[in-house]
Amino acid sequence: MGCLENYVVVVTGGGTGIGLAVVDKYLTEGAQVVVLQRGQKGIDALRRSYGDSVPVVQGDVTNYRDNERVVQAALDHFGKLDVFVANAGVYDFFKPFEDMPASELEKTYNYIFDINVKGNLYGAHAAASALRASKGSLIFSASSSSFYAGGGGAVYVASKHALVGLVKQLAFELAPDVRVNAVAPGGTNTPLGGVPDSEGNTQRLDAVPGFADMVAKTVPLGFLSEPHHHTAIYTLLACREQSGFMTGAIIPSDGGLVVRGG
Ligand code: NAD
Repeated sequence: MGCLENYVVVVTGGGTGIGLAVVDKYLTEGAQVVVLQRGQKGIDALRRSYGDSVPVVQGDVTNYRDNERVVQAALDHFGKLDVFVANAGVYDFFKPFEDMPASELEKTYNYIFDINVKGNLYGAHAAASALRASKGSLIFSASSSSFYAGGGGAVYVASKHALVGLVKQLAFELAPDVRVNAVAPGGTNTPLGGVPDSEGNTQRLDAVPGFADMVAKTVPLGFLSEPHHHTAIYTLLACREQSGFMTGAIIPSDGGLVVRGG
């Protein structure tokens, strides 16, 4: 029996990358999972793999009502909510901030902070009362950029540092009912996207030339991680028996960046 048997979980951005790997791992551990997904590709991927067994709410984390809808979907389908994984995020592709004209800086800030900070805050708020009722937990996808410079540009790094504050304050405010923790992955092979251009297209991290080599050269373990390298930590943080005394923790999964100080 998996340690998440009878758990009901929401994962935002669960149709691709780390979120999709977490969905897969949680299902293996026995959980029922509901996903909030924005893009059609991710929705199609979930349908192909899991059919109707994983209900998907199409929506945007920056819209408070969409966060409420996915929490309600978990309650309607499965009767409760044990874990809310606030995972959706976007990237700034480490563009030096002096290279951006003010208008681009503002657009980048608004787009990235809206999703990485406000979206996570909204998700946590929308889930809080259901999580208090189940004595559940909140898990955020932080980043090595929550601690160190150089893994993103100023906007992304600041947005992921902001999550550290969110984890601490929510762990404080929601105790003793709800545990609040985060996973902080380092460079991972995913289609993490950025600010859309005027045609709505974005860069993807897994298409950046040399990204794998850059990560491999930077981290002591010497390779670019895959999403599955992080998923057992999400399980640990969800599972009451295994991490019932942990709150306010941010666990690195970064190939050893931590011992180099970034
Ligand atoms: P990804 O693009 O595969 O996953 C991000 C998901 O968030 C996607 O499914 C995307 O559709 C969704 N999303 C984006 N904006 C959204 C919005 N407004 N509303 C709803 N969903 C939205 O990339 P990933 O790397 O798996 O990213 C998952 C998380 O991990 C992010 O928070 C990212 O910052 C973090 N992270 C990634 C890396 C990395 O190197 N890939 C490293 C550290 C942390």
